[in-house]
Formats: sequence, C-alpha cells, structure tokens
Amino acid sequence: MYFLIGVIIFTLFLVVFYFILKAKIIRFFQRLGFPISQLDDIIRDARLDEEDTPKSLASMDSIYLKKIEKDFPSIEISKLKRKAESILMDIYHSIEKSDVSNLNGKMKTFAEEEIINGHNSISDLKIHNTVISNYNKNNKKATIIFSIAYQYYILKNGIKKKIQDRVRMEFIYTLELEEKTKSPILDFHCPNCGSPFHNIDDDSCSYCGCKLLKIFNRIFICNNIVRY
Ligand SMILES: [Zn+2]
Repeated sequence: MYFLIGVIIFTLFLVVFYFILKAKIIRFFQRLGFPISQLDDIIRDARLDEEDTPKSLASMDSIYLKKIEKDFPSIEISKLKRKAESILMDIYHSIEKSDVSNLNGKMKTFAEEEIINGHNSISDLKIHNTVISNYNKNNKKATIIFSIAYQYYILKNGIKKKIQDRVRMEFIYTLELEEKTKSPILDFHCPNCGSPFHNIDDDSCSYCGCKLLKIFNRIFICNNIVRY
C-alpha cells in the first residue's frame, strides 16, 4: 500500500517536472524571439543537421604515419586507405544484394548482421574520410586500424532516410603465399622446415636458412570491421 502511494507520488512529481521544464524551454525560446510554432522547426532542423554532418573521426595520422613508413618502407598508406574503402564498398554491395558469398570472416558477419537489421535497402554509399586511428607493431604482429566515416540512404516505411555512419577497420600484417592458394598464413612458420619465425621482419628462416622473401608476399589484410 505504501509502495503504491510512493509510486503515485513519484509519477505525479515526474509529470509536474515535465510541464515545468517544457514551460521553461518555451519561455527561453520566446525570450530569444522565437515564436513557439517554430520550436518544432528548430528541432527538425537540428535533426536534419545531424543527418548531414559526417561522423567525426579522431585522426592519429600525424602520430603514426611516419612510424608506419619507417617500419614498412614499401607500404603506401594512401593505397591501403583506398583498399579499406573498397572493402567497405564491397561489404555494402553484398548487403544491398543480400548475398554475402564473396565475403569471409568478420566482414561476412558484419554484412549478415546488417541484412538481419533490415539495412539491405541501402543506396548511394558515399565515403567522407578515412584516417589512421591506431598502429601497433611488435616482433610477432603489426596492426593498423583505420576509421572510416561514410553515409548512405536506407528505405524505411517507404521514406528514404540518410544515415551517417562510421567503422573501425583492422589490418594485420601477414604473409601470403605468392602463388598457390593466396590464402593468408596467420601463424608464422617456415614452409620448408616448420620452425616458427621469431620476428615478422625476418627475411630468412633462422633454423634452415630458407629464404622467405621468395616464397611469401608480405601484405596487410583486413582482419576485422566494427561499427562504433
Ligand atoms: Zn626453415
């Protein structure tokens, strides 16, 4: 019984609070010279602005660009950024077609989740910007994380709605068999004698001396994609 009275008093309090707040907001805008009928317009304009403003990205390019170029002199980071963007385009094309057969790993999971969420009506994907947001290298692994801001339209209840979105895309440095399968080798072992590599920069096997550069391509591959 006391509980019920408590709930009623609390609800009454909330209702009174709502009306006082609303009155204060209206008075505030009136003082600024807005007729109240424009209040809805203001709110709607704010929402349109939100649809037109690309998601912000925290660029760490100035910190990591030189480091990456020093560690990987043959890597062109601008090309890798374009690669990240084209992977994102591929993912959204798959979402649009509701066919994820050409994707694999985390990219496939990302696309499948979008399709389940009903985003397969997407169109007019446009990329705003791609920046480096993190870089990490030790002797076992090198990782570059890009952030990409982009927009697209989805059809919701017959209305085209613009969506601003952003993802983080992780690239890992790995060895790829030059000919045969083109599949990435994720654990680093000598293809000749099977002994593990101690360093991703090694150009020959420390055990049997087999030259690794001739056998492998060293590339960055996309390993993960996450919306944030
Ligand atoms: Zn070896």
